[in-house]
Amino acid sequence: VFVALEGGDGAGKSTQARLLQEWLEAQGRTVLLTREPGGSELGAEIRRLLLHGDDVSPRAEALLFAADRAHHVHAVVRPALARGEVVVTDRYLDSSVAYQGAGRDLAGEEVRQLSLWAVEGLLPDLTVLLDVEAGTGRERRGDEHDRLESEPDDFHHRVRSGFLDLAAAEPGRYLVVDATLAPAEIHALVRGRLAEVLS
Ligand code: C5P
Repeated sequence: VFVALEGGDGAGKSTQARLLQEWLEAQGRTVLLTREPGGSELGAEIRRLLLHGDDVSPRAEALLFAADRAHHVHAVVRPALARGEVVVTDRYLDSSVAYQGAGRDLAGEEVRQLSLWAVEGLLPDLTVLLDVEAGTGRERRGDEHDRLESEPDDFHHRVRSGFLDLAAAEPGRYLVVDATLAPAEIHALVRGRLAEVLS
């Protein structure tokens, strides 16, 4: 079973990933918690280039995210799924459609096709969108800064709309949750939906 957590910066994805891992492990399942960019050794190098390197052109950025994802899926995600584990990833291909597509003004469908090619079509069984307004996300992120996070609010507005459009287009794969709810409430909603997917 493959679960992706998506949403803007400061939406609380890593908190939800941890809560989900604890809940699944308490049921005796083996969980692989991972993330993009940077979920593999090669990915850690790519993450460094993306977040702390020099300016990257929009298309080069999209290709670097796709390269990270291709290797992550090949080296980490697929092997874990083959072992029967539950894989929970903090970000997956919808992040690219929202950030590199809607955010950077590349054609969303092209970015999606690039990612689908990179991962040989692997889509999550469930994608949880933690929906947060740009301003709220910025406050929650506090001082933690990387090059991509310092984009202006209108960039983050486009990213948010990009995510909501994706969720509306594929309701069967998506659960959209208001990220301003308490972490325990969000976790309960995620559990409820995942229980359906697991049964
Ligand atoms: O989620 P995480 O903090 O690891 O993401 C690192 C940075 O990369 C964030 O600033 C996020 O906005 C950015 N990002 C991006 N495009 C993606 C995924 C993440 O610009 N596809």
